[in-house]
Amino acid sequence: MIILVVNSGSSSLKFQLLNMNDESIMAKGVLEKIGLPDSIFTLKYQNESHTEVSAIANHEAAVEIMLNALLSHEAIGLKSLEDINAVGHRVVQGGDSFDRAVIINDEIKQQISDYAVMAPLHNPAHLAGIEACAKSMPNTPQIAVFDTAFQQTMEPSAYVYGLPYELAQKHKIRRYGAHGTSHKYVSHEAAGFLGKPIEELKIITCHLGNGSSIAAVEHGKAIDISMGFTPHEGLLMGTRCGDIDATAVLYLMQRENLTAAEMDTMLNKQSGLLGISGVSSDFRDLDNAIAEGNERAKLAKDIFIRRVKKYIGSYAALMNGVDAIVFTAGIGENGWDVREAICSDLDFLGVKIDVEKNKCRGKLVDFSTDDAKVRCIVVPTNEELAIATEAAELIKK
Ligand code: ADP
Repeated sequence: MIILVVNSGSSSLKFQLLNMNDESIMAKGVLEKIGLPDSIFTLKYQNESHTEVSAIANHEAAVEIMLNALLSHEAIGLKSLEDINAVGHRVVQGGDSFDRAVIINDEIKQQISDYAVMAPLHNPAHLAGIEACAKSMPNTPQIAVFDTAFQQTMEPSAYVYGLPYELAQKHKIRRYGAHGTSHKYVSHEAAGFLGKPIEELKIITCHLGNGSSIAAVEHGKAIDISMGFTPHEGLLMGTRCGDIDATAVLYLMQRENLTAAEMDTMLNKQSGLLGISGVSSDFRDLDNAIAEGNERAKLAKDIFIRRVKKYIGSYAALMNGVDAIVFTAGIGENGWDVREAICSDLDFLGVKIDVEKNKCRGKLVDFSTDDAKVRCIVVPTNEELAIATEAAELIKK
């Protein structure tokens, strides 16, 4: 079975073609700067890598270029578009309508469009990708895999905000969370690695990347997640401020005479690690700045670590304990010093790490001591494989 995974963003489209018989990657790539004269198309397969710079007008053109490229290189092994059994699309916001992947039809498209209010950058871009793929492959099932689906198991006490109830309901303001595909994938991988059924485990999954979130996964079900109404709530992120007193936002708007759109940009694009450090949203840049004695870069990193720790503590309390803490995504997989700082002084919880074992990047490893009660594990995430797996399971049904 061959599945094409598409992650269509506002100005980029990432894709991966997977052979699900052995979960191997046949080809992958990205089309960037869509809509600009100098769009970049990168295609990788086996040991080959091709990059091309030329104008790609829109998502439809991007999909056409992608499909032509997939067909034109014999080594990829795709003979015809008919050989693609399904296309799995990443969709960031599915509101409270979807607790699993679905085959896309007109009604589903309308719902994805309706939820664009909560994901104005993402959902319209996903729809553009879906429309373009459906046009080029009219007989191939298009499947939506939602970032919000996994945590649809949350109880109202986890997702209702302390706003006037009817008003919040009217506007569908509640916590939806995000990164669900990754949290689901790494929690299941961790259970497999530990050789225990996920139904017997209490797991805290820390997806620490440019966007970061933490989930409490109790017996295989997400019972809480740090992201909320939008992917803004929770941890400090590359450019997002995360948890903040809502009235501070109102105060700042009044004081600086900011419109809602300007405030939104500030909260989502100019805050977080970048906003505090004034240096960068990228942890590697922060580390370089810290090495040069930059105090604010150090402060940004300290705040990031402290907040992860706070969430771990609160989720352990919610689950009455924790069996495993899982680290994933760019920082979670690579930043061993960040992992070490997060896991330090958590011995009251049963966390004890092997500092040397922890000094690794990007590979599956249990870095707790043999006698530790809580397993601390790095699990590289693989959202494309997770999306392809969901798509494959759905069409098999
Ligand atoms: P996203 O998918 O949300 O864009 P990633 O999961 O790729 O983000 O994570 C990006 C973050 O991971 C950046 O802050 C980057 O600095 C950090 N990162 C990547 N490699 C390393 C590394 N070797 N050491 C520390 N941090 C790293």
